[in-house]
Amino acid sequence: MKNKGLLLVISGPSGAGKGTVISSLFKKTSNLHYSVSATTRYMREGEKDGVNYFFLTKEAFEKEIDNDGMLEYAKYCDNYYGTPKKAVVDKLNEGIDVILEIEIQGALQIKEKFPDAVLIFIIPPKFSDIEKRLTGRNTEPPEIIKNRIETAKKEIKYINQYDYVVINDDVDNAANNIISIISSEKNKYSNMKNYIEKEF
Ligand code: 5GP
Repeated sequence: MKNKGLLLVISGPSGAGKGTVISSLFKKTSNLHYSVSATTRYMREGEKDGVNYFFLTKEAFEKEIDNDGMLEYAKYCDNYYGTPKKAVVDKLNEGIDVILEIEIQGALQIKEKFPDAVLIFIIPPKFSDIEKRLTGRNTEPPEIIKNRIETAKKEIKYINQYDYVVINDDVDNAANNIISIISSEKNKYSNMKNYIEKEF
């Protein structure tokens, strides 16, 4: 019997560099699927619909919620964000590992529904790096940056709900740490049980 894929949840404050770490992870590993979320926020320059997010209107998003199409969803900084259910469930059943890059309220919903999900929190080395990175990337106006920094302060309080913490001092290091986490999780007895029972 084929093992199901591992469900990995990655969270961290805006400006922690999650996106860069995840890109690096995809260059280093295979058998991994990135779940493209849906959102009602505006499209940033350089983003593509269906690649970075599925950009939906509020009405379309709420319809998906009503149709039970979201594995989890949350309101974050005045917009909806959610994980479309079908792709994730299909990939896990095919034995493919899935990464969700989502905020805390969503991560906690996933842990409820999938107790075996692995929750990883990515942080920069220092809190002050968050502001530096958000200002430096020039993608949001100052009032939105301020809101995101306030949100980050609240988010850090939930770090104890996560299974692992990865410090993004260096993108390559952080991605390697996540690869180690994936391989440790796969070697847990609970993940090997089906295989052992079949082969031994
Ligand atoms: P951003 O607007 O910077 O792309 O994302 C804002 C926050 O929403 C980030 O913390 C990101 O992880 C989170 N997020 C992205 N997609 C989802 C999702 O599908 N569900 C939830 N709950 N949060 C998400």
